[in-house]
Amino acid sequence: MGDDKRPTIRLSRSIVGKAEADAVSSVIIDDGYLGMGRQVRAFEAEIAAYLGVPAESVCCVNSGTAALHLAAQALLKPGDEVLVQSLTFVATFQAISAAGARPVACEVLHGSATIDLADAEKRLTAKTKAIMPVHYAGYPGDLDAVHAFAKRRGLRVIEDAAHAFGGDYKGKKIGSFGDVACFSFDGIKNITSGEGGAIVTGDPAVLSAAKDARLLGVEKDTENRFKGARSWEFDVKRQGYRFHMSDMFAAVGRVQLRRLDSEFAPARRKLAGLYRSSLSGVSALKMFETNPESVVPHIFPVRVLDGKRDALRESLKNAGVETGFHYKPAHLLSFYGGGSPKLPVTEKLWAELLTLPLHPGLTPEDVDYVCDAVKKFFK
Ligand SMILES: *Cc1c(COP(=O)(O)O)cnc(C)c1O
Repeated sequence: MGDDKRPTIRLSRSIVGKAEADAVSSVIIDDGYLGMGRQVRAFEAEIAAYLGVPAESVCCVNSGTAALHLAAQALLKPGDEVLVQSLTFVATFQAISAAGARPVACEVLHGSATIDLADAEKRLTAKTKAIMPVHYAGYPGDLDAVHAFAKRRGLRVIEDAAHAFGGDYKGKKIGSFGDVACFSFDGIKNITSGEGGAIVTGDPAVLSAAKDARLLGVEKDTENRFKGARSWEFDVKRQGYRFHMSDMFAAVGRVQLRRLDSEFAPARRKLAGLYRSSLSGVSALKMFETNPESVVPHIFPVRVLDGKRDALRESLKNAGVETGFHYKPAHLLSFYGGGSPKLPVTEKLWAELLTLPLHPGLTPEDVDYVCDAVKKFFK
């Protein structure tokens, strides 16, 4: 049934062009400095202004995983436990274990794929020190309840907001309130810097720990580099990494940030809205709970009922439509328990999940085409 001349509809892709290329070119040709300097400083200030937080509250690093890792390292000691949903990108788990802490896999709510606090409650131990909610597809779920849960138990909250840049929660930007939020700017996220990520927090201890740790633990190296200087005489008091962002990448991110509210967010909302209205009558498909006005949808996962997921995926593939699975639950991976303990809700979801194409390069006609192909399959 595929139209041979129709290009494959991709699941996701980077939307970058001449403005980003010009920005990189200017860093290479005009500045000739590719390390962490004035572009990163400006990107941090612009992210802060966008979120409405002080400029020093943002720490840019070279990936979202690095952001989560440094946030975890700043707050946790080896052996501490972190409550985290199993249904997430493996980066979330890797960041926790990289910091020496233990990710404790929790169930998600079936309707939203956000962390199930009743299940998390059962997994609390004396070693539990933090909870890491994942804003699945951009939707933060009941974040107030997560904070209330954490407050009652004396836990820190590290938001994996990799999907959620640009979104709001109750009228406030994700990352502008709460404890610690981590974003990803990898190639296909709501905005990209090529690769990159950011920690945003009002906690000065986390900020100074992360800012030092991104530069091999060299104390106050961030301040020096932002002045165009190097640190030659310094102390190191913690484990550090080469996790800083490069000026080339920040230059891309700065252009993307300017395009977010004018282009990317409205396009993502519009396309996700088309999916929702077009697929709402398909009884074999269930869509996830969201808040269409406040979320910038990062992906468009659906649940396919009655064991038809793989057949639908095959049929869409034949129609030239790429699909994906977000995500293989981390507790099923050998390194994180190999399927033990059992998480029945998460495992059921895993068998139902299918992600349909969503990125700002799609047209409404593309989404219609995907929806028609889905409907044809169920007819
Ligand atoms: C993308 C992503 C990350 C990691 O970000 P990178 O920039 O790719 O390292 C973490 N968590 C989730 C849920 C993600 O989607």
